[in-house]
Amino acid sequence: VLLTELRDLVGRQGLLTEAADCWVYGYDNSQRHAMPQAVVLAESHGQVLELVRLCNRHRIPLTPRGRGTGTAGGSVPIRSGLVLSLERMTGILEVDPANRLARVSAGITNQALQEAAGSVGFFWPPDPTSSAVCSIGGNLACNAAGPRAVKYGTPRDNVLGLRAVTGGGQDIRTGVRTTKGVVGYDLTRLLVGSEGTLAVITEAMLKLTPLADSKRTLRALYSDIGAAAEAVSAIMAQPVIPCALEFMDGAAIRMVRHHVDLRLPESTRAMLMIEVDGDAEFVDHAATRIAEAARVSGLLEISIATDADQVANLWKARKALSPALRTVAPVKINEDVVVPVSRIPELIGGLERLSQEFKLPIVNFGHAGNGNIHVNLMVNPDLPGQIEAAEACLDRVFDLVLELGGTLSGEHGIGLVKRDFVAREIDRATLELMRGIKREFDPLGILNPDKSLPAPIAD
Ligand SMILES: Cc1cc2nc3c(=O)[nH]c(=O)nc-3n(C[C@H](O)[C@H](O)[C@H](O)COP(=O)(O)OP(=O)(O)OC[C@H]3O[C@@H](n4cnc5c(N)ncnc54)[C@H](O)[C@@H]3O)c2cc1C
Repeated sequence: VLLTELRDLVGRQGLLTEAADCWVYGYDNSQRHAMPQAVVLAESHGQVLELVRLCNRHRIPLTPRGRGTGTAGGSVPIRSGLVLSLERMTGILEVDPANRLARVSAGITNQALQEAAGSVGFFWPPDPTSSAVCSIGGNLACNAAGPRAVKYGTPRDNVLGLRAVTGGGQDIRTGVRTTKGVVGYDLTRLLVGSEGTLAVITEAMLKLTPLADSKRTLRALYSDIGAAAEAVSAIMAQPVIPCALEFMDGAAIRMVRHHVDLRLPESTRAMLMIEVDGDAEFVDHAATRIAEAARVSGLLEISIATDADQVANLWKARKALSPALRTVAPVKINEDVVVPVSRIPELIGGLERLSQEFKLPIVNFGHAGNGNIHVNLMVNPDLPGQIEAAEACLDRVFDLVLELGGTLSGEHGIGLVKRDFVAREIDRATLELMRGIKREFDPLGILNPDKSLPAPIAD
């Protein structure tokens, strides 16, 4: 009966039931996998609405999926049921430069949106590295971001309104198409970051920003992590906000040195990559202001690129990092924790101690301006006990982050993989309120079950 109803809804072309076809919709970049019963490739808001209502009638789990690049297992259908793929909903419904907004369907890639916005001189600030292959719906669901967040914010700061279908099958519109508005509760920002557990986002009204005409790139090298963190605080305390403020620790620099000739001073223990953008007449002055702020005790060298070759050269170490990491250990556990900027040295110091205690290389880099550090535990599963050591180490990493006043995830989300740690960060009363919100949006609990919020612990 279910399959017949689904076929009536989306046609044969919109329904996958063969195991081989369904298999690829069962995993994401977390490497977790679960088989769905079937995959529905919706093409319109109306189809999504009817599908959610149908799942409620049959009480069948429904897992929304953008492009499956998430790293937290959010789109893995762990209770089987149906996967709803938004990949065919790629419309650019409106680009309105006069009001600095674009309205798009949720399945469009980040890159396709950037191209449409770019053609009229604008961009949408969230810039995950995966932009060519991830969807706007996925970006909103995870509050995914990249280096530009330090100046331009995350999806929560760059979305005006949404069209969505709640887990209970209600057809809703949230937000406004203006840059100010305070009518009703802010359901837009509630849905952003909710990882597909409250509603399926079908359309988004996004805030656009004018493209800057010029950019300058700087690289600063430090003898210790404390100096680099002091520089980050100093940079963020003056009025020129960089559009990227990225960081690599000593372990990351050591790793890259084995693979590329970087010609960095031997004593380099931390590196900042900084970019400023803006009006062509202004960027040189802005770069000078940033360089002044970066000159703290412990600075070894600071360079400002003046042409494209120099820019590429300055970014060389950062770009070489991911390929270098792949050669060091077959498995990389990549966390995206956040701590207050001034506490980055304590985080890195604590991570060094954990690395020694658990005999696991830990390499750290990331978005220093936001205190969002990618902590990479390098695991060789062929070595006896390494997987168990990595799990125990990760547990302690999360405790360390929370002790420092931080948060478990800056941009990847909780999904499936970090669920068990959430109750360490969010108190019981607040979690209960969140569970109440989930019940209000999704009374039968069919939408992306067992994700994001931890199961209640019995008294
Ligand atoms: C190589 C690589 C680089 C990456 N770099 C970054 C980075 O720099 N920054 C960063 O933040 N992340 C990064 N990621 C992670 C990932 O790309 C982002 O989280 C992205 O936003 C996921 O989008 P997606 O379309 O693939 O979503 P999916 O993986 O399909 O889904 C992610 C979550 O969103 C939900 N979801 C998807 N679409 C909808 C919708 N329309 N309505 C409701 N819920 C929905 C799913 O249920 C799931 O919980 C990277 C991943 C890879 C593989």
